[in-house]
Amino acid sequence: MINEIRDLEKQSRKLEPTIEKRTLWNQKVQAYADHFLDDFNHHHTFVESKDPGKQIFDFPIEEQGKPIEPVLKCLRENVDTPHINPASGGHFGYIPGGGVYMTALGDYLAAVTNRYTGIFFACPGGVRMENYLLRWMCNMVDYPESALGNLTSGGSMANLIAITTARDAKGIRARDIESCVVYMTHQLHHCVQKSLRIIGMSECIIRYIPMDDQFRMKTELLEKKVSEDRAAGLNPFMVFASAGTTDTGAIDPLEDIGIIAQSNDLWYHIDAAYGGFFMLSDKYKALFQGTALSDSITIDPHKGLFLAYGIGAVLVKNTNALYQTNQYTAHYMQDAIELDEDPSPADLSPELTRHFRGLRMWISLQLLGVAPFRAALEEKILLCRYFYKEIQKLGFEVGPYPQLSVAIFRYIPESGDPNAFNQTIIEKVKRDGRIFLSSTTIEGVFWIRFAVLSFRTHLEQVDLALKILKEISC
Ligand SMILES: *Cc1c(COP(=O)(O)O)cnc(C)c1O
Repeated sequence: MINEIRDLEKQSRKLEPTIEKRTLWNQKVQAYADHFLDDFNHHHTFVESKDPGKQIFDFPIEEQGKPIEPVLKCLRENVDTPHINPASGGHFGYIPGGGVYMTALGDYLAAVTNRYTGIFFACPGGVRMENYLLRWMCNMVDYPESALGNLTSGGSMANLIAITTARDAKGIRARDIESCVVYMTHQLHHCVQKSLRIIGMSECIIRYIPMDDQFRMKTELLEKKVSEDRAAGLNPFMVFASAGTTDTGAIDPLEDIGIIAQSNDLWYHIDAAYGGFFMLSDKYKALFQGTALSDSITIDPHKGLFLAYGIGAVLVKNTNALYQTNQYTAHYMQDAIELDEDPSPADLSPELTRHFRGLRMWISLQLLGVAPFRAALEEKILLCRYFYKEIQKLGFEVGPYPQLSVAIFRYIPESGDPNAFNQTIIEKVKRDGRIFLSSTTIEGVFWIRFAVLSFRTHLEQVDLALKILKEISC
């Protein structure tokens, strides 16, 4: 048996690469990353190719490992080249972000040390670090010091956690669901409906409140609907606002909704996944007046803080409510339950073992400070306003004046279907590849979206977008 153990040990020790091997791999990976970043001007934002990524299937995982060169080549050709390049400053589709480099340093260290940040006992410093970041965001949205939340994988998970907490805090049981009412606009992000279904609430009543011509909730109609529902014996329990919708960046009247929520005892959730970090700027913070009245907020560092994908946050004013929904224990955890000086992420979210995602955010903010993030956000708003002005000079029709950094626009051709015409513009932009634009349909009208949120988007990229749109539409 000893011989067999020794033999297996020899094999399994390969899992711990030697310093020589580590150095070699680090150098190659570093060179790959540097090439990716420094070669940026040659990158397209969209690359069309036949059977994109297909060779992944011809590159099997085998018994023995491969040298690093073909592995990185396979990655470059199949993964990092075809279709959308989200790291490009020419990315104006969906909600871009970019992925600041410091994210990679944080993730690298988090992976090497593999600290366990699910519970305080395992890594008090890591848990305190994440809670520090959450309190930093709570402070930004004017929540009290007792508020906390959770760093999630993204905004969808953050909304899911908020809705589950709201359900429990309002004491809603399975048999009550059919009489429960939630309020939102048609511009609220679709992950909310998805969350309602996941947590077994798809049978609740959803009231879509009409919007004004800037796609913001008409709060007088909210108030009316809530009273009608209550009079009809239903249970209005939750209202959602958007602080920066995905389609147009619209911000609902947050304060008015908060007042209605308070007087009607509704759980008030704000989805600020896209827009929340604009609150870092005193110039734009007033747009978000009323966040203090909410019970929970979703905000995505992988959007407005430009971190690489994989970090969102839910902020909850009543930490105890969040705890009540998520705290469970088991006998095999008995050593871990002691001296909880700071709440553990495992008690405030569905996750137990998790990525130490706080480190990437902390190290980015520590190394750069807040100032460049704030400047970048202010720059994006101005770039969007600039685009909004310039695109009209090219004969395009525009939607409402952008509240944040998303504008919608379209071209009305002299004849033919405008929706089809604008669809063609999107196709042509994609084929050109230097920039990427996505579209949306609002009340049957096809709009092209111009979302400025990549930290690599500057005047140069916006001018390029205008130039391409001019070429294509003429
Ligand atoms: C992006 C977005 C979401 C979803 O967040 P993910 O991080 O993609 O899961 C939710 N709400 C809004 C307003 C968003 O822009």
